Amino acid sequence: MSARLPRRVAVLSVHTSPLEQPGTGDAGGMNVYIVQTATRMARRGVAVEVFTRATSSELPPVVELAPGVLVRHVVAGPFEGLDKSELPAQLCAFTAGVLRAEARQEPGHYDVVHSHYWLSGQVGWLARERWGVPLVHTAHTLAKVKNAALADGDVPEPRSRVIGEDQVVAEADRLVANTAVEAGQLVGLYGADPDKVLTVPPGVDLERFTPGDASAARAVLGLPRDAVVLAFVGRVQPLKAPDVLLRAAAELLARDPALRARLVVLVVGGPSGTGLEQPRVLHNLAASLGIADVVRFLPPQGGPALADVYRAADVVAVPSHNESFGLVALEAQACGTPVVAAAVGGLPVAVADGVSGMLVPDHDPAHWAAVLAEVALRPAYREQLATGAVGHARRFSWDRTTDALLGAYTEAAAAFRTALDRALDRQEIAV
Ligand code: UDP
Repeated sequence: MSARLPRRVAVLSVHTSPLEQPGTGDAGGMNVYIVQTATRMARRGVAVEVFTRATSSELPPVVELAPGVLVRHVVAGPFEGLDKSELPAQLCAFTAGVLRAEARQEPGHYDVVHSHYWLSGQVGWLARERWGVPLVHTAHTLAKVKNAALADGDVPEPRSRVIGEDQVVAEADRLVANTAVEAGQLVGLYGADPDKVLTVPPGVDLERFTPGDASAARAVLGLPRDAVVLAFVGRVQPLKAPDVLLRAAAELLARDPALRARLVVLVVGGPSGTGLEQPRVLHNLAASLGIADVVRFLPPQGGPALADVYRAADVVAVPSHNESFGLVALEAQACGTPVVAAAVGGLPVAVADGVSGMLVPDHDPAHWAAVLAEVALRPAYREQLATGAVGHARRFSWDRTTDALLGAYTEAAAAFRTALDRALDRQEIAV
């Protein structure tokens, strides 16, 4: 049996579109992951069609994201005002739209279906059955893991999601985990067949995120050259814990009031999820901590502006209560900025403790203040970590992620055909 690359992949991204700006709402690392891997697959001659829910009547049915990458907008429920929690009720409509789009093509249009997040996994499950192609699934986050690390203000993931994830884990031909820890969770918490689970680390765009002149980046952002800049980048939600950075900054100022003249806390990103979703909540927290004058809020940044945010920072903080990987940590390091991160989920892989940044075992603001001071206020140590950060980030690349995914597709397709042949031999299915 010859192992050949698939010609065309159906990628399912029900709840968020690769065309959206990441860093707010439901758009984050998964969107970046899909864009980066799909464009690279297309460059290797594998066409990609991404199915996502239409969230505006203005959206054309099909958009070319890049040569060889199409985004198909599926009408499923009202365009606007539908929360992610309401999407399970729209999965039938979404699946109908996906199957209808395929039915308009020549038979055998897709060679593999890759679903992202459990909602898409449910759709992929049916597509697999209907099209007779393997289902590769990436969870991105897992309800059981998330519920074990809830932050104040977070709403637990419902049982229906856990059941839905269990089903997808049982039905998928291959499960792609970001880290060995996630692979272990799929097996240990969800009963996945270990032979179906493979670990594929995500990447970082090393052309966009490069080390650069911090003073120039600070000038672009209107920050003083000699400031001590601590940055949070990402969706503002309780799970990401930007409040820990604010509380730690207040602690730093309590210990060293003179620092107030130089300290800048940058919070970059938009509201998302529950609890801290109202943009005012963090502003109010800053005011109640008496540090409103040092905290600056920026809306989600795209293009080169985000690299400037990372370059301008002395430290990027990732205090999340849970993080399946943490692309922000890699991007900051690729820009030569050390990361102080919570030692949770994939962050101990994304950050090399004591080499490219530091890991904090808990979310105690006093501990965070101590570690942030150790990195940000000791220039020689910071420089050492900055060098380590660039080296660590270079160990990851979207090209390698893409190669590993294509390998998984090829292998899954071969195993799928073998299983089908065996079933035919045993005449288990009618010919
Ligand atoms: N991001 C962005 N602009 C922003 C904030 C975040 O483009 O203002 C991107 C960031 O570059 C990263 C992604 O959003 O690639 C967030 O991914 P991460 O894995 O850190 O967190 P997630 O959102 O998946 O929980």
